[in-house]
Amino acid sequence: MTQLPIPRGTLTPDRPLDSLTWLRVGGPADWLFQPADLKDLSDFLKALDPAIPVFPMGVGSNLIVRDGGIRGVVIRLGRGFNTIRIDGLRVIAGAAALDAHVARKAAEAGVDLTFLRTIPGAIGGAVRMNAGCYGRYVADHFVSATVVTRGGEVIMLSPDELQFAYRQTALPPDMVIVEAIFDGPSGDPEALAATMDDQLAKRDASQPTKDRTAGSTFRNPAGYSSTGAADDTMDLKAWKVIDDAGMRGATLGGAVMNTMHPNFLTNAGGATAADLENLGEEVRRKVFQNAGIQLEWEIMRVGEPDPDNKKE
Ligand SMILES: Cc1cc2nc3c(=O)[nH]c(=O)nc-3n(C[C@H](O)[C@H](O)[C@H](O)COP(=O)(O)OP(=O)(O)OC[C@H]3O[C@@H](n4cnc5c(N)ncnc54)[C@H](O)[C@@H]3O)c2cc1C
Repeated sequence: MTQLPIPRGTLTPDRPLDSLTWLRVGGPADWLFQPADLKDLSDFLKALDPAIPVFPMGVGSNLIVRDGGIRGVVIRLGRGFNTIRIDGLRVIAGAAALDAHVARKAAEAGVDLTFLRTIPGAIGGAVRMNAGCYGRYVADHFVSATVVTRGGEVIMLSPDELQFAYRQTALPPDMVIVEAIFDGPSGDPEALAATMDDQLAKRDASQPTKDRTAGSTFRNPAGYSSTGAADDTMDLKAWKVIDDAGMRGATLGGAVMNTMHPNFLTNAGGATAADLENLGEEVRRKVFQNAGIQLEWEIMRVGEPDPDNKKE
């Protein structure tokens, strides 16, 4: 097997990724690297053969990792990248800090980043995906991010460089976000806590938050503004066109289009990544036939199909 640099953190060969994703599917990474700290990450990438691909993952709440897994090195940040500091109305969060923790800590200090409370990812994924809900998005509060390039260089990126759009940025797929800075409006800590409780209750009432999903499967089809602010307000919702095409509750193997919210592709037990992806593609076909609308995936699908095709 190819020789890799020896880091201070943990480098695990042939590491199954299913347990690291919300959907609980996916084959192994050739290598899973959990760096000890920023210098460890930067030194490792500098020394790593440039021909070996790298893929940064967060907590896997927006991913289908295919059954054949991911070739190259998957980088997952943990302790060493999860500190949260507050300086006035400025919040400086490590990329591995959970969105919910950042929202809570900011609220305690009187800074309103409450929209992050119900998003189940970590800050690296939130920046990469321009995560948002209830009409507010990362792009509205983002000041800058510290990232490590594939060559191991540590640089800062501005909002202009990230080019935030609806659920996406221009960040190259092998660049690793290690920290992000946000500015939030001030608020009364008790009122912010009440807002977050309210948002959690709304979520639980409208979405299958306890099921194995990766959130919204497809983007809302009606269009969106540059910051993505329109997706909550546009009339045409993905769940509605899926419902109209008769795909609420549709199944394939262990995959189901959730009956509570039909834009939530769900692993109801024993699904493979191929079940989930193929059901999603079937939904796209049916919606196109029924309404002439091409749904676009919001869930990122990464890695390779099962090489033996056993699970396809
Ligand atoms: C129940 C549920 C509800 C959800 N609701 C919402 C919602 O309301 N709004 C919303 O926007 N999303 C929502 N999501 C989707 C998801 O939580 C977000 O997209 C989240 O920001 C993904 O973060 P993550 O850490 O899980 O990233 P992952 O899923 O692990 O990765 C997603 C992408 O980010 C990249 N990435 C992750 N970390 C880094 C890093 N450190 N550096 C560079 N790239 C990185 C990955 O390469 C990948 O391209 C929901 C998901 C679930 C399961």
